[in-house]
Amino acid sequence: MTDEIPRPSDFIREIITEDQKTGKYEKRVHTRFPPEPNGYLHMGHAKSICLNFGIAQEFSGRCNLRFDDTNPEKEEQEYVNSIIDSVTWLGFDFGPEPFYASDYFDFMHRAAEYLISAGNAYVDSQSADEMRESRGTLTAPGKNSPFRDRSAEENLRLFREMREGRHADGAMVLRAKIDMASPNINMRDPAIYRIKRAEHHRTGDKWCIYPMYTYAHPIEDALENITHSICTLEFEDQRPFYDWLLERLAEGGLFRRPLPQQIEFARLNLSYTVLSKRKLIQLVNEGYVKGWDDPRMPTISGIRRRGYTPESIRNFCERIGVAKRDSMVDLGLLEFCIREDLNKRASRIMAVLRPLKVVLTNYPEEQEEVLDAINNPEDAAAGTRKVPFSRVLYIEQGDFREDPPKQFFRLAPGREVRLRYAYFITCEKVVRHEKTGEVIELHCSYDPATRGGDAPDNRKVKATLHWVSARHAVRAEVRLYDTLFTKAEPGEESGDFRADINPGSVEVLDSCFVEPSIANAGPGSRYQFERMGYFCVDKDSAGDKPVFNRTVTLKDTWAKIEKAKK
Ligand code: ATP
Ligand code: MG
Repeated sequence: MTDEIPRPSDFIREIITEDQKTGKYEKRVHTRFPPEPNGYLHMGHAKSICLNFGIAQEFSGRCNLRFDDTNPEKEEQEYVNSIIDSVTWLGFDFGPEPFYASDYFDFMHRAAEYLISAGNAYVDSQSADEMRESRGTLTAPGKNSPFRDRSAEENLRLFREMREGRHADGAMVLRAKIDMASPNINMRDPAIYRIKRAEHHRTGDKWCIYPMYTYAHPIEDALENITHSICTLEFEDQRPFYDWLLERLAEGGLFRRPLPQQIEFARLNLSYTVLSKRKLIQLVNEGYVKGWDDPRMPTISGIRRRGYTPESIRNFCERIGVAKRDSMVDLGLLEFCIREDLNKRASRIMAVLRPLKVVLTNYPEEQEEVLDAINNPEDAAAGTRKVPFSRVLYIEQGDFREDPPKQFFRLAPGREVRLRYAYFITCEKVVRHEKTGEVIELHCSYDPATRGGDAPDNRKVKATLHWVSARHAVRAEVRLYDTLFTKAEPGEESGDFRADINPGSVEVLDSCFVEPSIANAGPGSRYQFERMGYFCVDKDSAGDKPVFNRTVTLKDTWAKIEKAKK
């Protein structure tokens, strides 16, 4: 795959190339992907993973997987495990072990004590409200805290008391001493340590003070000798603090230069999708979906269960590229990428989703035969398989119309069509339900001379239908998905993304029939059901009843519908 696609070029790779030229980091490139383990990874994270690990690969560098687990309250081992699983599934290697920010708590604590002794941090005893008020606004400068000029000795003593648990949660915080009048609010003495009596998923109750994210993150980067710390745009205003902090610690000899540099890029936004852990947690907790790996979820575990391949996701991330300005990516592009990949690799099979019984009246009761079918027209090496044929078949309800409109070329009374790989059949009689009048069965005749699908007299038909043999087919459940939201930007109008949830985002068809060749396919196996789309075996499959998720339709019907709506 990488052979065909030229090496991507973007502003981040340009910066790195330039750093390589000047020897800023002695030609080292070391990136990291730093998720907070407070939810499952989503497609936005996939963009960041592909970027960070991709760059490391291209520049023969390294990329760390680092859990940014500085907030004890929302983090759980379940999330850690799912994140490791997702990164690995995407195809990236983070080395023997992931890193954990919590492993650096001792260092961070020492660094804080150093900042205090150097006069660069102080303990503030103001209440949270007082601190908020004195912070100022975008247009008005902040005011110095009355505690700002405590001596280093007093600050050290208080900070130690904080650590020893001598003060209540929220009673005081440690703040960096920078500039309350700075035009950048992030530089107005940001909090760097808070008191929080909370059990941490890795350090237990060792600590009752925890570092703030903005303080912890630069230190994590520097400790891991990261060269380029790539993050999303919302951290742009934090960059001056990132640099300030690392400079102060380098002055104190805690770090050596060159220090890591932060580079921001635009996050991924996908139409008809929400990409925020907070919102995804709501979807799970409030029961809009059945868990993090629901195939409608934009989580990596969800799209994986839906049938997406890691290659298609990596290809998608490469195509969307990296920019400095936020934008919205069309969901159709993601679908295009998976179609393109599965077209090359998925075996074709025949499956009937909404069955209509067809009896071939001139085909002997007990006779059956096996016909040769091509597994993948895009891949000769995929070979052929045998498909059983007999007197009673199922075709798709939608392939028959009693009163065919002009453009409808499929089966209709008196009309002849081709059954793929099999025979020409002609509809002779329509059988209806006694009471409802609904069409329940078709009686057709077949032409034995057309075996394999061609007429010796070169007679033409206008349609080829897929089918399964009723006696041989395996009953299956099929789950068809639509977008989880009805609006391209969920919540844009009402302010609540839940108002735009699509009530018809899943349709379950429980009496579908698939050809017997895939009866025992394991979860994750992917197929093209001819004419119906790409499907993937779901983990809910039970021995006698496979369950399939539709990954994506065959043609881009979605884009067409969208165009029609406009
Ligand atoms: P969310 O907004 O969903 O809560 P987050 O940014 O809080 O996500 P983190 O676990 O902190 O989640 O993210 C890990 C990394 O993934 C960060 O570097 C972050 O910038 C990046 N990331 C998160 N969302 C996106 C996105 N939509 N597009 C690109 N990168 C993202
Ligand atoms: Mg975050």
